[in-house]
Amino acid sequence: MPQSHNLIAAFNEEREAVSAIVRNGIGKYALSLPGIDEITQLDDRIWRCMDSRTSGGLRFPPFIRKQDRAKSIRFAVEFGRKAKVSAVGHHLDCGAVGAYLEANSIKPTPQKPPFEYGREFAQDVADEVQVPCIEIPLQGEVGCHRERAVYYTSIDLDPSKEKRLPTGFVINREYTDAEHALIALRVALQIAFGPHGFGELFSGNQPFLVIVVAATQKEVDSLAQEVSASVARYGDRVKVDGLALSGR
Ligand SMILES: [Zn+2]
Repeated sequence: MPQSHNLIAAFNEEREAVSAIVRNGIGKYALSLPGIDEITQLDDRIWRCMDSRTSGGLRFPPFIRKQDRAKSIRFAVEFGRKAKVSAVGHHLDCGAVGAYLEANSIKPTPQKPPFEYGREFAQDVADEVQVPCIEIPLQGEVGCHRERAVYYTSIDLDPSKEKRLPTGFVINREYTDAEHALIALRVALQIAFGPHGFGELFSGNQPFLVIVVAATQKEVDSLAQEVSASVARYGDRVKVDGLALSGR
């Protein structure tokens, strides 16, 4: 995303929401939102990437970097089975595919662009899980990440259902282990702070939010502990907050 008025205008759209969360905490902020109870009701079980431009359904990046393809496929198949996905999605301009190609020193070509790697991978996973493979249409611009947050969640969650929640990546931690979920978190942070995200606009007053979500406060505390080392290098430009949704 180029440093421009558009970028700043897009950033400012959620300035108030982020300020309120920084001031009062996501727990209090969420209580004020009429649609908060709906965010745990998924409309479908189509597996979508963590990218906010592919919102809806179940979210986790199927591509995990620093693994060879066979290991990545095995991991994804296991996730897909556990999560009982109804289809495996892939999408254009996928940062997770980009990180995977880079980590494995694979150079895409015009004949085989990153999209094609993502499509092939999703197809192989879908065949193993025995569900359809589908392209998820991109809701937003290519090369433009507007995420103000990442939702790191141990329950099914679609935060895009409540428009007053910050736009965010979603990392579903329910069907995977800490190791893989934290790799996804590091990729999400790299995208948000990189040239395609808001990058330098994040500050102590307007931090990138890591919102851990779980059924109980005890689980929230444990997930917050789990992510702490991965966010440390960003200092006060990343803020970890937690939302326990039990008893709601
Ligand atoms: Zn993606």
